Amino acid sequence: MSDDNILYECRLRGKYRLQGLRTTNPVAVGDLVYFKIETGKETAVIEQIEDRTNVIVRKSTNLSKAAHIIASNLDQALLVATIDQPRTSTGFIDRFLATAEAYHLHSTLVFNKIDLYTPAQMEELNKLKHIYSTIGYAVLEVSAETGQNLDELKALMKDKVSLFSGHSGVGKSALVNAIDSGLNVRIGDISAVHHKGKHTTTYAEMHPLSFGGWIIDTPGIKEFGLYDLEKETLAQRFPEMRNRMSACRFANCTHRSEPGCAIKQAVVDGQIADFRYKNYLNMMADAVSD
Ligand code: GDP
Ligand code: ZN
Repeated sequence: MSDDNILYECRLRGKYRLQGLRTTNPVAVGDLVYFKIETGKETAVIEQIEDRTNVIVRKSTNLSKAAHIIASNLDQALLVATIDQPRTSTGFIDRFLATAEAYHLHSTLVFNKIDLYTPAQMEELNKLKHIYSTIGYAVLEVSAETGQNLDELKALMKDKVSLFSGHSGVGKSALVNAIDSGLNVRIGDISAVHHKGKHTTTYAEMHPLSFGGWIIDTPGIKEFGLYDLEKETLAQRFPEMRNRMSACRFANCTHRSEPGCAIKQAVVDGQIADFRYKNYLNMMADAVSD
């Protein structure tokens, strides 16, 4: 899309395709590119790709070191979650947050469907809100249905490139349509249709917001996680562990069974939430060693 918001179908110059890139896709969603409009046509040729401020990648499953860039130049990650209908597990939330940390992407949790929550569920939300906000993740509570707090969500997204994720059914499409009626997307669906029959699992879409900013939707978000989490650095992806691990007796403490572990002590003292620590242990069991 050009600066004056005209959409051109672009192709790459041969040289970009021929360079021995370590990525399986030379140009990715979110890239800033310079392109030249072809005379007398509505198509264009990409001349140059600007340096990326960050990327989220999926490592290829084959043994080559090539990675597929899912999206680039992101400002933030928004994880849409729900206490109920469907329930988002903290296991999923923590895996998402840790992966975003690995990419140095700041995350905000957006709990949707608050119009449906019982008093007990509101209480649970408040507990989660306290825990996550204490460790540095803002928590919004919204309803796409009633419009509650959507102005906060809009303010958060304005003029930013936001990764917009969450399990199917949490209300991503409903939220996007509620904050930007002009957009009218069914998040996820578009890409599902595009890729019918192909076995591409990660495919991102970028949509402009009428009030300024962009959302990046990645239906293959299940791929987002674990690939980039390594046992050796996993604790650093948990802000409340990162802050405390220098106090562990052993410099290479994995915070599982070592004596003198400041992390385990903080869990016992109630300074680190039990469920966060349990999720850390589960992720350690799954994470790769590099
Ligand atoms: P997506 O898969 O994340 O895009 O989810 P959808 O936007 O398709 O929403 C899934 C279902 O939840 C739909 O039936 C929506 O009408 C409903 N829904 C979405 N947001 C809310 C909300 O805030 N409150 C209530 N009660 N229902 C909602
Ligand atoms: Zn430790």
